[in-house]
Amino acid sequence: MLYLDHNATSPLLPAARAAWLEAGEDFPGNPSSPHRLGARAEGALEQARQKLAALLGCSPLDVVWTGGATEACNTVLHHAATAASGGGDSAAVVWVSAIEHPAVRESARHFFRDHVRLIPVDAQGIVDLGWLKDNLTRTRPALVAIMAANNETGVLQPWSKAHDLCAASDVPFFCDATQWCGRLPASGLGGCDFVAGSAHKFGGPRGVGFLRCPAGSPLHPLVHGGKQQDGRRAGTENVAGVVAMLAALEWCEGQLAAGADAARRAARDRFERALREAMPGAAINGAAAPRLWNTVSVVMPDAADCRQRWVVKLDKAGFAVSTGSACSSGSEAPSHVLTAMGLGAAEASRALRFSGGWLTPDSAWGDLLQALVRIQSTLATPDAT
Ligand code: PLP
Repeated sequence: MLYLDHNATSPLLPAARAAWLEAGEDFPGNPSSPHRLGARAEGALEQARQKLAALLGCSPLDVVWTGGATEACNTVLHHAATAASGGGDSAAVVWVSAIEHPAVRESARHFFRDHVRLIPVDAQGIVDLGWLKDNLTRTRPALVAIMAANNETGVLQPWSKAHDLCAASDVPFFCDATQWCGRLPASGLGGCDFVAGSAHKFGGPRGVGFLRCPAGSPLHPLVHGGKQQDGRRAGTENVAGVVAMLAALEWCEGQLAAGADAARRAARDRFERALREAMPGAAINGAAAPRLWNTVSVVMPDAADCRQRWVVKLDKAGFAVSTGSACSSGSEAPSHVLTAMGLGAAEASRALRFSGGWLTPDSAWGDLLQALVRIQSTLATPDAT
């Protein structure tokens, strides 16, 4: 099976697996326990905190371990809503980009009810900084949330510029960097007020992630209980998961430092060119925008049948691909990301997403193209299904 669904989850990297197994053996204690085994586990967390802080460019004190990015995103939105209402602003508004993952979009709706404004994107799927600049001159929201890289299209967002605009207006800025981390350098992200990341998107284990938040000011916790992590997130920390997450992230950063992304990007670009030639009606979403090197989001040609059948046929042919975000697959609702980019429901319903990883062989793209062409000929013939 060729796995081309890394944006949904990326299989455990060998370096992360080794670190995970080793940490499970080496750190049997609870990091909050008063004995030496507890101190050793806390030491492992502290070392991981320092490594992550060095990669992001922030203080180790800013790092909070979570059960993944969804929890980190919910924590930020919950914090912003609680801080605003505690400060007497019961009508506080949050601005989130129109292409945010449901982890941000739905938690914004939950905590801010109908006080959510969507920041528009252009036809390439890039957030409209002009809109942000204009609106910041008129009013100050409780929080601005703009992701680093989109999970469906791979389109990169100008998060650094957006952060600068927000900082100039003294508005807290949250960057969901779940798809960026491990694929592009994390350096500089730590300058944002809040940052979310998730181990399983870059080859670490599932169910562990992180939140960067400013250590100097209190965080209204989402998860209540014990006093772990300075009261910012209750619950015993997943020590082996955290250690493995950092092993995965450091391995990916090593690939980036060696420039290994260039060849992967070239292989992906060759695939896109060949796909357009072989299927003239196919359109790459965000083709003119800077994008993650691993992602292809494509609207299949008009006559080529519905995307669910493509996914099933590709599955049978040995390719694991997706229709878009994992969270919306299975539902036939058109993608909010693609509709925000101006695609009609019919076009959006023909979208497929292919996403590779560091260990995906370049030849996978050529094999996928052949399978797509083969399957298209069967889809065009109703009897052949
Ligand atoms: N944010 C983005 C951009 C994502 O792609 C995802 C997962 O698809 C999440 C948040 C949620 O991550 P997790 O599975 O760690 O909760």
